[in-house]
Amino acid sequence: MDKILIVDDSAIQAARLKSILEEDYEITIAQTAEDGLSFASSQDFSLILLDVVMPGMDGFMLLKRLQEEIITRSIPVILITSLSDIQNEQRGFTLGAVDYIAKPFHPVIVQARVNTHIKLYRYRKQVEHQSMTDQLTGIANRRRHDLYSVTKWKEAARLKIPFTICMFDIDHFKAYNDTFGHPAGDKVIIAVAKTLSKFMRRTTDFVARYGGEEFVAIIMGGDARINYEYMKQIRKGIEELQIPHAPSAGEWVTVSIGGVTVLPVDSSQYGTYLNIADTMLYDAKRYGRNQVVWCGDEMKQWRQTDDE
Ligand SMILES: [Mg+2]
Repeated sequence: MDKILIVDDSAIQAARLKSILEEDYEITIAQTAEDGLSFASSQDFSLILLDVVMPGMDGFMLLKRLQEEIITRSIPVILITSLSDIQNEQRGFTLGAVDYIAKPFHPVIVQARVNTHIKLYRYRKQVEHQSMTDQLTGIANRRRHDLYSVTKWKEAARLKIPFTICMFDIDHFKAYNDTFGHPAGDKVIIAVAKTLSKFMRRTTDFVARYGGEEFVAIIMGGDARINYEYMKQIRKGIEELQIPHAPSAGEWVTVSIGGVTVLPVDSSQYGTYLNIADTMLYDAKRYGRNQVVWCGDEMKQWRQTDDE
């Protein structure tokens, strides 16, 4: 059932809207714009019904905030208003509202408008999902990563959960393609993607094809040591696929892995730590490939070769 958020300072008006829609949708009510913003960024709504006139932050201000946030930007907003003058309607549309519902409510009209926008939203989500899936491997693509990472980074900062970013790169992949051809190379990429996905067991574990023969994973929870050990298992898991490599490159296809675990704070940037993970990956390559290099506690570098 799709979820709708009603943001309205009038409890009576919110209850009336709820009674019109609750048969077909799961309804949440926020009585202030501030609550509305926090609900919208922490839950999955398909539509927001937003009252324009509220004390403190009004509907227009909230709409602007929703549009600025990457997490809430795509949720359609219908403004509820009795301000029937043209200027206010224009302002609402300029700020990104998809529609208006005027007070007093006519149940049939409210239902029809809501149904239409929910349908459009679902369709858009479906298209979006397709555009965020890597065609070759069926896992998430880089675009999906870009969106997911920012959302989860904020969530981890809010909930104070450690956040792990990990980069993977298939070793000597060019040599593989040069020896066996690109169709065979594609099969290797698919096999590696499948194995990475198999290891990403929890619902918040995320892996995407970042480009070419490169992958990125995001893991919420667990300290640096736990995730570092986990990546060592994944490295082993890929080697144990025993995909014969090009003679010049080594016996089996392997991956190099670089990662970092961090406790995000509000002011910190995901991109900074993605770069650190990338630097660790670069070092893993430099130190001889088929190994895990980690930016451990107190920024000390951990290398698999040191552990063994
Ligand atoms: Mg009001």
